[in-house]
Amino acid sequence: MEYEALKDAQKTAIGFLERSYKNGRLSHAYIFEGHAGTMKLEAALFFASMLLCTDKESHLPCETCNNCLRVAHMTHPNLHIVEPAKKQIVKEDIKALQHDFNRTALESGPKIYIINHANTLNAHAANALLKFLEEPHEDIYGILITDDTSHLLPTLVSRSQIVPFHPLPDSSIEQALLDLGYDQTAARLASRLKNTIEEAETYLEDEGLHDIIDGVSDVYEALLVEGTALNVFQEGLEIYLQNDTEKVLDVFIHYQKDLIYGKINNQGDVVFADSAEITQSLSERYELKDLLALLQRFMAVKASLAYYINIRLAIDNVMLELERRLADGK
Ligand SMILES: [Zn+2]
Repeated sequence: MEYEALKDAQKTAIGFLERSYKNGRLSHAYIFEGHAGTMKLEAALFFASMLLCTDKESHLPCETCNNCLRVAHMTHPNLHIVEPAKKQIVKEDIKALQHDFNRTALESGPKIYIINHANTLNAHAANALLKFLEEPHEDIYGILITDDTSHLLPTLVSRSQIVPFHPLPDSSIEQALLDLGYDQTAARLASRLKNTIEEAETYLEDEGLHDIIDGVSDVYEALLVEGTALNVFQEGLEIYLQNDTEKVLDVFIHYQKDLIYGKINNQGDVVFADSAEITQSLSERYELKDLLALLQRFMAVKASLAYYINIRLAIDNVMLELERRLADGK
């Protein structure tokens, strides 16, 4: 696993765990709380690796020793992961955990258990876990992973150290998508629109997206060359208004933002790098206030998508305004 990416994405949580370990102030029970896709399980494995790593040069896991590798593959005998078999974690799952940790086959050193989807602990399981937590165990550490602690037994919560996990920064999602082989434009666009790597991947699976991007690019190119937008929009993009209106608007919104980045010399944030020449030249022919007003128009259409009876007309009007403000600009 790439702990470097994890540390970039969850600086606060990982930094806290590192410091606690370094200063000898570990808790015996943690709750990792945060939305899906915030790398909580990865962080739990990082924690286990940190405790079990045999390379003691640094307090961080080396990622190469036998222990680190077995943690990464979830095969280390001192690591026990509880998952809901069906929809719930039941008492037997907690009993199995206790039994596992009493076996003599375990290796020396700390033992770590991870309870994934801890919100699915049923009442019996939660009580069994509470009892387990209350017994003194020198070298046993537990991590409960959940998206919301309000679904957990309050007595479990009060005995645990809560570690919050925040939505991933855009840059982490973008990098993860690049690592998965997506191109720069796709990775950046999806990272701006989605909060998790999984959601971003699903978004990019839609094959129509590239055609929509090409269509929007054609609109802006026509604006630059001929000063027109409406007819190119109608020819190339209206067809997508049937099912993909939101996607069309999202691409327009980010294209429009690229124009603003061009205007204020912030090329580092540009999404559609392939069209940077067009957006740059075009940005010089609008006033900044007009670019901002146009962005507002697109966003307003998107915000009220559910109420529009004639979405086509609404977007046609924005196209005309793109033309008109261009003519007004210098
Ligand atoms: Zn190691």
